Amino acid sequence: MGQGISCVRDGAREHALFRSVQNGELEIVNAMVDHDPSVLCRTTVHGNLFALHVAAVHDQIQVLSMLLDRSVNPDILNRHKQTPLMLAAMSGNISCVERLIQAGANILMFDSLHGRTCLHYAAYHGHLDCLQAILSAAHSSHIAYSWGFSRFVNIRDGSGATPLHLAARQGSAECIHILLSSGALVSASTCGYGSSCSYPGSTPLHLAARGGSLDCVRELLAWGGDRCQTDSSGKIPYTVALKHKHAACAALLNPSSPEPLVWPAPLKFISDLNPEARTLLEKALITANKDREKEILKDTMNSSPSSPVHSDFGATNDNSEASDIDICSICFEKICTIVVKDCGHQMCAQCMLILCCHNKPNAASTCSKSPLCPFCRSNISQLVVANFITDDGRDEEQELSPSKPRRSSRRSFNSEGGSSSFKSLSALSSFGRTGGRNSGRVAAECNEDLDKL
Ligand SMILES: [Zn+2]
Ligand SMILES: [Zn+2]
Repeated sequence: MGQGISCVRDGAREHALFRSVQNGELEIVNAMVDHDPSVLCRTTVHGNLFALHVAAVHDQIQVLSMLLDRSVNPDILNRHKQTPLMLAAMSGNISCVERLIQAGANILMFDSLHGRTCLHYAAYHGHLDCLQAILSAAHSSHIAYSWGFSRFVNIRDGSGATPLHLAARQGSAECIHILLSSGALVSASTCGYGSSCSYPGSTPLHLAARGGSLDCVRELLAWGGDRCQTDSSGKIPYTVALKHKHAACAALLNPSSPEPLVWPAPLKFISDLNPEARTLLEKALITANKDREKEILKDTMNSSPSSPVHSDFGATNDNSEASDIDICSICFEKICTIVVKDCGHQMCAQCMLILCCHNKPNAASTCSKSPLCPFCRSNISQLVVANFITDDGRDEEQELSPSKPRRSSRRSFNSEGGSSSFKSLSALSSFGRTGGRNSGRVAAECNEDLDKL
């Protein structure tokens, strides 16, 4: 762009250009560039931003698009070696992020401030959509081949912090979830020493403890975050939470409080776990941990948890009217929501999790056994969401299931409570039907219901 044209600063014109870019005045910017293409190699006085940076920061997608169409380098750098993509990810401007990626912006650039990439920026500032866009770009780009996708997910900044560390530090539980599902290492440590490192040897759990976000602590524990791992000064996350007066986090992080349920390693060996079943199991995991958490927090703090407990699935209050619903014959408490695909045996999501959870995941062991069905001992190769059977229909799946006492009048209808959570449960559960008699319409409705969860 504009090579050969001398880049001199011209205060007034420069100011007008950047103001117009910032305000999204497409035609004015267009006219200015037509009149004098050299304006495109001018920068703002502060921070040395080019027009493309300004458009990315202020979410001016049309101006940004126009500049890219005029062959402005998508990876143009400011004084801190920040690309427009980093600034768009920092500001949460998803359409600019997508457009820059589409124009070939390099997702593997490092700034000179902290040695961070656009993935760090999205994670640090908690912009889930930008994070996902960058991750899917990493999946499909040459980076996945040359660098490896999981190496990119665990990319370190100048202090050794991965995007997961930054999301934990800033309290973004949703970003943590996406990163962990994409292969982020839950127990990675930042660099152990050096003046550049603010929290030497910290794991994401240390940083979540410092930030005081219960949701982040929960999420990290559910993915196997180690409560006993020390940082460079010998502190465990519990100590860090206490020091920063985050009592609820400290209670969960206390190594002497009950172990949280962890997303089970055996489930990782079910290749391509059915997405609806995965969602159901993840929710059951969170619910189970929240039930446990209530006890921990009651004992240690004598007060209610700082955030309400949402019981979407399998919670103890799901005793709404459900004469055609099957009680789990392992716990005799909850509704069967998960079906082992090949043998058709059913149980509740929490029992399925507990079944897979007898061992904490151990990074050193490479045991790759898939879980066994507790009723027939066959290998579980796929799990699906239960299909609740309506009054007149017993289908073959039900005939061969010993795990299905009819629920009938076991509980009376609870008129005021629980019905909304039951509705979402049954909506989700009718997913099982989509492959059978009722197809498209049901699937569409279920997708809508799923989106609301
Ligand atoms: Zn159960
Ligand atoms: Zn079975």
